[in-house]
Amino acid sequence: AKHEQPHPIHGRVLIVAGSDSGGGAGIQADIKTVSALNGYAMTAIAALTAQNTTGVFGVVPVDPAFVAQQMTVVLEDIGADAIKIGMLANAAVIEAVAGAYEERAVNVPLVVDPVMVAKSGHFLLEPDAVLTLRKRLLPLAEVVTPNLPEAEALTGIPVRNLDDMRRAAEMIRTFGPKAVLLKGGHLEDEQLYDLLLTEDGEELFEGRRVHTPHTHGTGCTMSSAIATGIAQGQSVRDAVARARAYVEKAILTAPGFGHGHGPLNHLH
Ligand code: PLP
Repeated sequence: AKHEQPHPIHGRVLIVAGSDSGGGAGIQADIKTVSALNGYAMTAIAALTAQNTTGVFGVVPVDPAFVAQQMTVVLEDIGADAIKIGMLANAAVIEAVAGAYEERAVNVPLVVDPVMVAKSGHFLLEPDAVLTLRKRLLPLAEVVTPNLPEAEALTGIPVRNLDDMRRAAEMIRTFGPKAVLLKGGHLEDEQLYDLLLTEDGEELFEGRRVHTPHTHGTGCTMSSAIATGIAQGQSVRDAVARARAYVEKAILTAPGFGHGHGPLNHLH
């Protein structure tokens, strides 16, 4: 007998990212997000972190060839409708991931979250690998989703206001991605802007700041939600709009666990 499903699984998303033992960011946030939006989550784990809400206490990168192997075997069998890239740790892993993508998945839309530094200040990407990420992965991306510190690291432009955001987003687009979502949450203002730059021009998404310490994993969650929307056939613009609404509600209903920056509520 065929079982009726109220929310059938739709959209295969391969996540290539790092594990957060605290469950709030990284692979754990990615799986919860894709699942909550009724997508199917697969994972190629690129790094392990020993982490809680107060910080990152250890990082172990995975062997680059084994990251590529995880991608290859799932792509050969199950396939993917979108791929989300998160924490990659170092240049050798970036090269391996780009190689596996080019070999097995060139036509699959790629969402690149250029993860560099955790909110607690810990490096999640070796600083000398920023240029490798820019040259090797951004040209392959359908969308890249930097926050302001990441945009500054990619462009060298200090970003203090909306005009700076426009200049930085335009420069990042010259690095090769089809679209740039520059997330403005690191500006101090009450009014927040996320700037989406595509071949059709600019769209500004506005929001109000939520005053809470519980924002751990917002970047991971946003990029996974965007990848799920794209995997389900949404336009980049519609995927971004749904992802922003999903992240906002996840922040507003966060459970408040831990003594630092607590996790979101992914299953609202
Ligand atoms: N841990 C992992 C594995 C991540 O991928 C990320 C972010 O991308 C973080 C931690 C950082 O999370 P946050 O800066 O939101 O605390």
